[in-house]
Amino acid sequence: MKPSFSDRLLSWFDQHGRKDLPWQQDINPYRVWVSEIMLQQTQVTTVIPYYERFMARFPNVEALAAASTDEVLALWTGLGYYARARNLHKAAHVIAAEYRGRFPATLDDIQALPGVGRSTAGAIFSIACGGRAPILDGNVKRVLTRHAALPGWPGLKEVENSLWDLAEELTPHQRVADYTQAIMDLGATLCTRSKPSCEHCPVSADCQANAQSTQAEFPGKKPKKAIPERSTIMLLLENPDGEILLEQRPSQGIWGGLWSLPEITTNESLTDYLNEKWPGTHNIQQWAPLRHTFSHFHLDIHPVHVRLTAAPNAVMEGSQQLWYNGHPQQKIGLAAPVKKLLGIALQPDLLRETDS
Ligand code: SF4
Repeated sequence: MKPSFSDRLLSWFDQHGRKDLPWQQDINPYRVWVSEIMLQQTQVTTVIPYYERFMARFPNVEALAAASTDEVLALWTGLGYYARARNLHKAAHVIAAEYRGRFPATLDDIQALPGVGRSTAGAIFSIACGGRAPILDGNVKRVLTRHAALPGWPGLKEVENSLWDLAEELTPHQRVADYTQAIMDLGATLCTRSKPSCEHCPVSADCQANAQSTQAEFPGKKPKKAIPERSTIMLLLENPDGEILLEQRPSQGIWGGLWSLPEITTNESLTDYLNEKWPGTHNIQQWAPLRHTFSHFHLDIHPVHVRLTAAPNAVMEGSQQLWYNGHPQQKIGLAAPVKKLLGIALQPDLLRETDS
């Protein structure tokens, strides 16, 4: 009898699977949880340094629960999808308050934590709690849709339901933790988005997409919509001490809770804005625009560097504004393009793309 899908995958994992990733050491639910959240939409190589810094600062759930949101977001800066960090922090508070700091041990309780979906809960439960639950992250969806030549976009409910049924059926009753790591690994290393290495794949013999050379058709694509474009003017207001004014964004919405630059819309006049908020003479330079792409729109940022010639009034305490000088002690979360602009503004020797 031919060995089962899981047997073949496990034999392959024993020989070739990755076992030295940081979250595969000292396994516990907290460490697996943080890794699973960081790995959502993000490559392993990108995650590793963030994960190591995060674990060094927050080695357990109590440490995370006791931290400020700003500090959590600061360690997340550059990783993107900041709702993940806010939910992680929220969930740490839930675990501290409702479970006395012990990570919940049932699949339902894990899945009820903020920011934890069915697949992430399945991974934590299988890898770190000794349970059995299927997973269905992006890598696994790719493997399963190809192996079964399952058509349709996995974002559609009926396609997703079929995939969960398949994932449940294929998950073994023994060595579930290894199987969970193995199927994620197969998707990440062999069954890759482009140019899958089918010749090395342990389940190629009965893979439908391999048999029909239709790997590129799976998983089915989402029907395309044009991504809209928006634009904004970001102001780098620099005081005579060389500090830049930042404002904290509301906790909901784009870059929620992060610190950003004051913005005006393209319709609002810069002169009117400066006359109203920062009267006096200024040295104004426009920089080359930069584009930041979110999942649902492009943002064209037009940076304007304004040197204030007179010392401004101090920002009011609690006004969600601060003067930033780039000192490492100012631990705050910054959106990636804002961090880039500050890097240029705070290093006067760096060549600016345009000064006019
Ligand atoms: S044979 Fe190829 S397409 Fe099929 S599961 Fe393996 S790597 Fe993916």
